[in-house]
Amino acid sequence: MSSSPASPPSPKSALIVGSGVFGLSTALALSTRPSFATTTITVLDRLPFPAHDASSVDSSRIIRADYADPAYAGLASKAQSIWRQTEPSQLGGEGRYSESGLVLVADTGNGGEHYVRESYSNVVALNKRNGVADNSVTELPSKEAIAKTVGTGGGSGDWGYINRCSGWADAEAGMKWLRAQVDATKRVTFKTAEVISLLYSPSGDKVTGVRLKNNTILEADFTILATGAWTPSLIDLRGRSQATGQVIGYIPLTDAEQEKLGSMPMLLNMSTGMFIIPPRNNVLKVARHGYGYTNPVAISNPSSSPGKQEEKEIIVSLPATTHNHPDLTLPPEAQSAMKHALQSMLPTLPARPFSATKICWYTDTPTADFIITYHPNYNKSLFLATGGSGHGYKFLPVIGDCIADCIESRCPPEFREKWRWRENVVDNVVTEDGSRGGRRGMVLWDEMARTHVPSTSSKI
Ligand SMILES: Cc1cc2nc3c(=O)[nH]c(=O)nc-3n(C[C@H](O)[C@H](O)[C@H](O)COP(=O)(O)OP(=O)(O)OC[C@H]3O[C@@H](n4cnc5c(N)ncnc54)[C@H](O)[C@@H]3O)c2cc1C
Repeated sequence: MSSSPASPPSPKSALIVGSGVFGLSTALALSTRPSFATTTITVLDRLPFPAHDASSVDSSRIIRADYADPAYAGLASKAQSIWRQTEPSQLGGEGRYSESGLVLVADTGNGGEHYVRESYSNVVALNKRNGVADNSVTELPSKEAIAKTVGTGGGSGDWGYINRCSGWADAEAGMKWLRAQVDATKRVTFKTAEVISLLYSPSGDKVTGVRLKNNTILEADFTILATGAWTPSLIDLRGRSQATGQVIGYIPLTDAEQEKLGSMPMLLNMSTGMFIIPPRNNVLKVARHGYGYTNPVAISNPSSSPGKQEEKEIIVSLPATTHNHPDLTLPPEAQSAMKHALQSMLPTLPARPFSATKICWYTDTPTADFIITYHPNYNKSLFLATGGSGHGYKFLPVIGDCIADCIESRCPPEFREKWRWRENVVDNVVTEDGSRGGRRGMVLWDEMARTHVPSTSSKI
């Protein structure tokens, strides 16, 4: 592969591992880049598309520019303008995007408040810049103002605002739309196979493809890992990124309840992390944007480190999903936190069992910044497009081009520092961007084994 800052890489073959938002949007962007015009592009995934336990595949994802960080707010605002295109053939069409509004709140004096206040300033400024009506963002200075705006008889938090320009996407439908765009290019071959390791050159300083679970190999000039929360099983990311499990519950509603709650805004409390998405097809979703659970597993060190003596076995947090644990349910502390959140947010909704639950895995980084960069050890043969940190989905229409720009060494300036390979690693990856609620340090199987719920379970 030839590459230099002046001439973008032009590999003969590019292998993208992972067909979530990061991998699929990269495939689409590369298929239109002149420098990849003669490149054979292959996308591999361990499961048939859409992979049911991928973090990009679910009933909903929040599409918001409500960020404390102006760079992500700006990029999200760009993405939103594409989500809002609602002709049937367009991304937001056929119910893939719904602009329900978002009530973003915090418990004053607690974690999350700073984030919500910064986010408020950012969206007010963004709307002014975009010429959006002044009343699209309204401060909600009290519990009463929040309850009145949510309109369910309940609420959460005691300070916040409503942004009527925020909405939610049918995440699985969005992914199917994206896949159709990629298929239409006729440039990309899809394969279902699980990668068990990267292949390295004899000297260990180049990645030359991947080894599959059936022990065959697939060679490539250029490999992109877009493997979400599974990425730490393929490359050593200790101190840079790890999988954290996040809880979701789906609640069945009657027709009358659907009718009553169908037009409510989303409600997200950044202090507890608890949020609800308005129901569709008689199902309401409650979930927690939290520090999550780790699932520590001992694995052989997947990295080749030329000239260095590395540990043979390392411990990393990896996803546990119903694919490898068919009976996986929610730990008692999560069930209790969800019950409390529902009582507060929807006090008139009679309690009932979940129709389904799920643990979905974030690819967390210490700062919630993505990792979109060449791995420094492999002479530009390995690129990482991951680190979604629980907020990557909304960027579906724009992130592929950003990733392709970074591959071509033209990373958007505001993200150059944020998405780069970090030389300084932390001892323990805990995402501290101010947006996370719940307890820190929970281990999945320890929480599963508990028979009683710790009294602090729904507090920060
Ligand atoms: C519960 C939850 C709620 C979220 N809410 C929001 C939200 O409201 N708004 C928002 O913007 N974002 C949200 N996010 C974050 C967003 O969904 C993710 O950042 C984004 O989907 C990450 O995409 P990805 O492509 O990195 O990972 P994924 O979608 O997980 O894709 C990775 C793919 O790699 C494949 N793979 C992994 N290992 C291998 C292997 N060894 N061989 C072959 N294939 C492999 C997997 O099968 C998978 O298909 C949420 C995430 C979760 C989990």
